[in-house]
Amino acid sequence: MYNYPNTEGYKTRHYLYLLTTIMSFLFLSHFTYAGTTKNIGTNIPVDDHYGLALEPAPTITYRFLPPAIGQQQIEQFIEQSPVLETIKQLSQRRFIFSPSLQIVFGSEDGPLFDPVTNSIHIPYQFVIEARKRFKNKAGINNQRELNQATEDTLLHTLLHEIGHAYILDRAIPILGKEEDSVDNFATILLLNDIARGDEIAMNSADLFALEDLDIDSFDDADFVSEHSLDLQRYYNILCLVYGSNPSRYQRIFDELPVSDRQQQKERCPEYFSVINQGWLHYLAE
Ligand SMILES: [Zn+2]
Repeated sequence: MYNYPNTEGYKTRHYLYLLTTIMSFLFLSHFTYAGTTKNIGTNIPVDDHYGLALEPAPTITYRFLPPAIGQQQIEQFIEQSPVLETIKQLSQRRFIFSPSLQIVFGSEDGPLFDPVTNSIHIPYQFVIEARKRFKNKAGINNQRELNQATEDTLLHTLLHEIGHAYILDRAIPILGKEEDSVDNFATILLLNDIARGDEIAMNSADLFALEDLDIDSFDDADFVSEHSLDLQRYYNILCLVYGSNPSRYQRIFDELPVSDRQQQKERCPEYFSVINQGWLHYLAE
């Protein structure tokens, strides 16, 4: 037990100390609240009242594993792609991860999100295969269009995997197939936040349609899969794109029989509205 020889002196010092502490607190808290606006729930300052924009740090990091022989070109293609910057920017304001989420390129397995290591894995081979499929697609006429379609698919795939990570991070309830929910997460972000996001969504939908062409017949494995069928994923993206702007995409269902076309046109605007509101509810502003 401590003994204070001069109790009065202690009391005076004690009150002075208390007063100083309260004053400092008021002074500091004034500056904290006057200086910055905070994103509620994230604590990331979005601006200040003196006109200086405070840029939040990206919450996604990239790692490139050494490419095998024959994969060097695709490794460079990914590394130089604007897709990486787009994802980084979204991780500053739309999906904010703490601790940050790592994206590993060149893994053996994937594309996948590994919840144990909190990382996303994209094999180089996946991008090579996607590029090969687009190479043979009608409508891809030159190298630039081929690169664009490959990049678009990469962006959609990354957003899909980030969707899995985000659902876990925010403990978002899953009321249906998670795979469908994160396909929607990717498309909604493209349509709301990304320049030419509609085109990107349609290019990535095309990859599902191209994959579907490889299938001669379905077996049980296709129906028990956690993923919807490729063609269902394709039409789901088209439905969201159409629903986001019906007058702009009047021809989007032209390949369907008239009755199905009509049904989609009636259904998709409401479907887009519901899915859009659902995801915007969970995405940071
Ligand atoms: Zn998935």
